[in-house]
Amino acid sequence: MSEIADNIAQIQETIVQACQRANRSPDTVRVIAVSKKKPVADVLAAAAAGLQHFGENRVEEAQTKIPQVRDLYAGSLTWHMIGHIQSRKARDISGLFDVVHSLDSVKIAGRLSRSAAQQQATCEALIQVNVSGEDSKGGLWAYNWQKDTGVFERLIEDTNTIMGLPGLRVVGLMTMAPFLRDSEAVRPVFAGTFALREALCTRLNVSLPHLSMGMTDDYPIAIEEGATMVRIGRAIFGERQ
Ligand SMILES: *Cc1c(COP(=O)(O)O)cnc(C)c1O
Repeated sequence: MSEIADNIAQIQETIVQACQRANRSPDTVRVIAVSKKKPVADVLAAAAAGLQHFGENRVEEAQTKIPQVRDLYAGSLTWHMIGHIQSRKARDISGLFDVVHSLDSVKIAGRLSRSAAQQQATCEALIQVNVSGEDSKGGLWAYNWQKDTGVFERLIEDTNTIMGLPGLRVVGLMTMAPFLRDSEAVRPVFAGTFALREALCTRLNVSLPHLSMGMTDDYPIAIEEGATMVRIGRAIFGERQ
């Protein structure tokens, strides 16, 4: 077995165990293989090992990589944009990616909506929320939303605005946990994102089935707290340069 295939098998086993602890079915967790900074050959190896969902965080890199993979791989893969989108790149997204995890402002949602609508496409999307409160993280500000009604009301308003835009189909929330040495310390961020999803769905009377949370260092905890998409790079492809 190739190293990538071996890594994927180990991750699948870890996911099964996390699902057992959480009393969930492993079918409810989708692995997004984060191939940023990794060559096309690595994407093909992961696809050969059975993965269908891939994530990239930069438009320029995706513009060269995704068409090459499409030329070389007979099956069909689903591409996820997981990084911040600059306004001037918004129009390049809908031909390239199937799902956007990083709707991190009403403004960028508006741009994506306009370009998807112009191309008569619908872009599946998740709203990124900053539950951890770190300045370095993107997303709608959601720190302390359970206690700060101003923060919560603003989230309601912005989510409602984004969900009303044409050309976007909002299917959930995405979050990033802080980089902490103790991976257990990230659990409240995941639990807070799960609770926020429930609160938004109740208030707006909508359905947001997906939670994109968990990376190499913390995906088992994210799964225990309800993640339906885990974005895994290093555990599949090894360390990045
Ligand atoms: C790079 C990246 C990941 C994957 O990180 P790993 O630690 O390599 O698993 C997940 N999500 C986002 C948004 C990223 O930029």
